[in-house]
Amino acid sequence: MSQVLIEFAADLRLFLAPRNRGGQVRTGADGTSSLGHVVESLGVPLPEVGGLLVHGHPVAPAHRPTADDVVRVLAVRRPQRLPITPPRFLLDVHLGTVARRLRLVGVDTAYGNDLDDDTLIEQANRERRVLLTQDRGLLRRRRLWLGAFVRGAGPDEQFGDLLGRFAPPLAPWTRCTACNGSLSPVGKEAVAHLLEPGTRRSYDVFARCEACGRLYWKGAHHRRLEEIVEAAVRSACSAPPGPHSDRGPSGGPVSEDPSPS
Ligand SMILES: [Zn+2]
Repeated sequence: MSQVLIEFAADLRLFLAPRNRGGQVRTGADGTSSLGHVVESLGVPLPEVGGLLVHGHPVAPAHRPTADDVVRVLAVRRPQRLPITPPRFLLDVHLGTVARRLRLVGVDTAYGNDLDDDTLIEQANRERRVLLTQDRGLLRRRRLWLGAFVRGAGPDEQFGDLLGRFAPPLAPWTRCTACNGSLSPVGKEAVAHLLEPGTRRSYDVFARCEACGRLYWKGAHHRRLEEIVEAAVRSACSAPPGPHSDRGPSGGPVSEDPSPS
């Protein structure tokens, strides 16, 4: 059988089998499989592919590679342009810490720790949210309108990867980390009866989630949360100009108590 040479961008090689991590793969061209199918069968989810070139010319995933084709598979460009503005995300069940961090910096982020794959895809499609996951199988599902693979082993790396990939506008301290609702300032007198005496004595500035009613103030975890926010804002400022020019307000009077650990 004739052969096709496929060269993968460096950013895509983590998806390849160890023997292919050099990035160049020779594979048989059967004349019937689409290039998209061939790329996916080598392990690379199509939502991670930014373009396909055959002898330097762009082709669609439906292209059928033929003998002696030389194919380049490009990674998505960073920051990635999305069909929704501002970006909205749905995080897979294992990414709860990253979900809370995204909310902390004001990014619209849905998350539930008990959603199965079909439910995740349905919700992503219905609410036009980009599904973020570390499950490549999920990204290969045809029904999913848009997804992305989250790189990194822990929340620090994963959060940094997402900020770099999507450059979302940041609006720290505007969203409930527990439920993704919007926070509004609330007078101390209106909530005093809900507070522990120690909190009532120590804090004067409060915000309330419009969706779940949770109260926020600059509590015990505040320093750690501020560090996370400051690092995110720094990385947004140092990133190349993204598809979104409006970075939103940076900083606000309120903070929150539950830690995104
Ligand atoms: Zn809430």
